[in-house]
Amino acid sequence: MTTLFISDLHLESARPDIGAQFLGFLRGVARSADALYILGDLFESWVGDDDPDEHYATVKRALRELADSGVPLFFMHGNRDFMIGQRFADDTSATLLTDPHLLKIDGVEVLLSHGDALCTDDTEYQAFRQMTRNPAWQAMMLQKTLADRQVYARQARAASQQRGATMSPVIADVNQAAVEALMVQYGVNRLLHGHTHRPAVHRFMRDQERMTRIVLGDWYEQGSVVRWDSNGPRLEVLKR
Ligand code: MN
Repeated sequence: MTTLFISDLHLESARPDIGAQFLGFLRGVARSADALYILGDLFESWVGDDDPDEHYATVKRALRELADSGVPLFFMHGNRDFMIGQRFADDTSATLLTDPHLLKIDGVEVLLSHGDALCTDDTEYQAFRQMTRNPAWQAMMLQKTLADRQVYARQARAASQQRGATMSPVIADVNQAAVEALMVQYGVNRLLHGHTHRPAVHRFMRDQERMTRIVLGDWYEQGSVVRWDSNGPRLEVLKR
């Protein structure tokens, strides 16, 4: 059994190099996996499943081909593509997961999350997150024209980039207390997430129990994948 995990590709037509590597991954390495989990921010932005963008359509077809080849596909929302809906899931044959999601691999439990909900020191972002994850807000947004939604998304991204440029690295990272509280709530000693673009395997003790937090990296300059097989999880770099 080999399960693959990826996140934070931030695909967009302006970065064809990332798209090309991802399409190669879907047609290569991923074909021999037993399942592929995408833990959010597959896309740099997503304003609705009705977006006819050709780059997105190409990615959706490749995801569908992978699923049709017999590799189950799972998708969790990130803070960029939280508007992905059931139509996307139907088009790609992906199963949408809620965040967090408890997974059992060969009898070992691991909690999956995008990771943004754990950045609790960034209170301004958490307020934005709460607003935009509200189904009523999303329904209101989808009432707008595609062009209006794209304007909103551009403004939100610009504001987010401006904030990110001046934010302390500590505030932009996950909060350790929030991490431990979530792991205790779900009774797990393994957590796997993305979002922070700080790939690493963190080991720490809590109440004499060994805990592990694995962080996936982004795909800006190279790919990042966690390969979980009979030897356990391994965080790997995919050279471009
Ligand atoms: Mn993210």
